[in-house]
Amino acid sequence: MLTQLREIVEKVASAPSLIEALDQLVVSTCRAMKTECCSVYIADHERQQFTLMATQGLTKPHYQIELAFGEGLVGLVGSRAEPINVADARHHPHFKHFPGIGEESFGSFFGTPIIHQRQVLGVLVIQQQQRREFDESEESFMVTLAAQLAVIFAHAKAQGMWPDQRDGLHLIGSAASTGVAVARAWWDDNQPRLEQVLPASCLDIEAEQERLSIAIELASAEFRRLRKRFDSELHKETLAIFDLFSHLLNDPMLRKDLFAKVVGGDLAEWAIRQVVEAYSDRFANMKDDYLKERAQDIRELGQRLLFFLHNDDVTEHQWDEPVVLLTRELTAAMLASIPRDKLAAVVAQEGAANSHAAILSRALGLPAIMGVDFIPEKVHNCQVIVDGYRGDFLVNPNRHVLAEYNRLLKEENELTQTVEEELGKASYTRDNQRIHIHLNAGLSADTSIAVNQGVDGVGLYRTEVPFLLQRSFPSEEEQTVQYRAILSTYHDKQVVMRTLDVGGDKPLPYLTIEEDNPFLGWRGIRFTLDHPEIFLIQVRAMLKASIGLENMDILLPMISGIAELDESNALIDRAYREVACYAKEQGKVLKRPRLGIMIEVPSILYQLPALKGKVDFISVGSNDLTQYLLAVDRNNSRVASVYDALHPAVLHAMKHIIDTSNALNIPVSVCGELAGDPVGALLLVGMGYRSLSMNTRNVARIKYILRHISVSEMEQLSRFALKATFADDVRTRTTEFVDERGLGGFIRAGKQ
Ligand code: PEP
Ligand code: MG
Repeated sequence: MLTQLREIVEKVASAPSLIEALDQLVVSTCRAMKTECCSVYIADHERQQFTLMATQGLTKPHYQIELAFGEGLVGLVGSRAEPINVADARHHPHFKHFPGIGEESFGSFFGTPIIHQRQVLGVLVIQQQQRREFDESEESFMVTLAAQLAVIFAHAKAQGMWPDQRDGLHLIGSAASTGVAVARAWWDDNQPRLEQVLPASCLDIEAEQERLSIAIELASAEFRRLRKRFDSELHKETLAIFDLFSHLLNDPMLRKDLFAKVVGGDLAEWAIRQVVEAYSDRFANMKDDYLKERAQDIRELGQRLLFFLHNDDVTEHQWDEPVVLLTRELTAAMLASIPRDKLAAVVAQEGAANSHAAILSRALGLPAIMGVDFIPEKVHNCQVIVDGYRGDFLVNPNRHVLAEYNRLLKEENELTQTVEEELGKASYTRDNQRIHIHLNAGLSADTSIAVNQGVDGVGLYRTEVPFLLQRSFPSEEEQTVQYRAILSTYHDKQVVMRTLDVGGDKPLPYLTIEEDNPFLGWRGIRFTLDHPEIFLIQVRAMLKASIGLENMDILLPMISGIAELDESNALIDRAYREVACYAKEQGKVLKRPRLGIMIEVPSILYQLPALKGKVDFISVGSNDLTQYLLAVDRNNSRVASVYDALHPAVLHAMKHIIDTSNALNIPVSVCGELAGDPVGALLLVGMGYRSLSMNTRNVARIKYILRHISVSEMEQLSRFALKATFADDVRTRTTEFVDERGLGGFIRAGKQ
């Protein structure tokens, strides 16, 4: 059975068009199931109907067989989203007779839905003349087949091969950063090509060997990472390619051949071309078809190596107009390399709404969608719409859709202008209560952040980026210069500097960490406590940077228990004593910074009283708190719909934190994305929070909303939210709440 299943899936996946794939499917399924009839129906969600696309066994009619959702046995399978197995279909109350197709001769019917990400894409049916129910093993074969077909169908949709895609292509991903963009799509196809490499020799053989080693290392790390990602899916071919790549890269012969060329005086690029072409020719001449095809894979491997030889080079592209950047995986470096005014939006194939790349897009005010299954070559240069509120990505939309989005864009711009005009005002609610608004900074590669007159300080400075953008750990001096730049930019305001929070979705390129669960692994304070030398260098750099400015607080990420806090404190003490001496030598005095911890690992929620006397403040990281409370990887597009900061558990945790910290008299702030989300900000102030930290983009909007609503109204709203069982009810009620107050434009449908 398993072999038959694999054969059917392979045939369907390799068919050149959807129609041919479906024809293959019905013929092969009939054969495998030894039945007389197999048909496949495809769902058209716009028209709410199923259409018969291919059949073996029914007479092809001269008209389209269409069934409304819920109509006939096929419609019933679709609406119930589960298989139906009936021995006598003709007498079933849902049986619908279509004249001239000969269905009446079939007694038994088995239909199973083809579902991808909770959406019914079609129904697969087998029928037989003899009256009987299909047995359990037949049922499970069909269900397994349908599950595998779902992946292929979803992919066909992404390629624009789906029958309901009459008006351009409509793809859906995770809404990662709000806003709307209408622009041309741009995919970087400027990857190095093997055939463009020309003979060249090198002068410094040792340096060239080093270049080659680094490229091999970087490529190996990428293949390992990608292999792991595809491990649980049905991409067997992809898996095999990465296995082959890794295998080849570790092959001592290949390495020997590459390095021999470099030692002989060839430039690394030229060495790669010669060796890779020799290997690929060898495969191309093999008799076995499978091995023959591997020649192309080897060339691809060569191109990846070339890419990594050059990955330091920032290719400067010139655009006349802002573009929608299409990318496989968004990185901070990528965003940093394109001028902001040339970027209209970002659409990534991987990642989810709460990855750090998504946060960075929000910080840049860049609409973004993650986890979109598009085919780059099909979308490149097309006109596209990015709806960062809903996660919709429309390729070549029709003029009505275009007009609607242009209208939205205009409204957005007007709103931005209105709120920005009042940016400079201090933040008070309608009933005159002061709310402190701070800035989240540091994710951008840009260190020269302009002074933002509209904020009370920096509530979170993420120090990771300088570490992520380098080839090795930045030195104490380099760090001191960076931190000093931030502290002096905000010299009259307090700046909360967080110690290194690498790991999770922020792996350091020069420190490979192989873990099955990176978000539950060596991350944040766990990493730096295991590397006290890195921690001490960073804290010393922070302290040195603060000499004479006296506006720095230190914040520790990912604290899960008091022991970690005590150990960190002991190291900070040590760094403090050293830097205080250094300051004294220069006739200056070092002020001891206030110390705080992030509240983002759920265990610490139950240890808040133990923090009394040990910390000067706490800052709630709602991004990770949501991830860990709901056990949902914030970076995984497959579970993106489960990640919801308005989940009752998260809201109750937030309430617990504010009540407990108020009782303990520990100052508290929220620096996760919830604070900068209009819905979140209203609820948090309603719960009692008076200090919120958010990205630059949200500051003006949140201040504007708060100025138009009173604390008592927000309290009422948060009381409702804390009683709600479903996050959606909270979202709906809050949307009504802002609508009633004429602030509807701030919240649009969709989830952040
Ligand atoms: C958080 O987890 O909410 C947070 C602010 O930290 P980061 O997003 O950098 O993990
Ligand atoms: Mg965090």
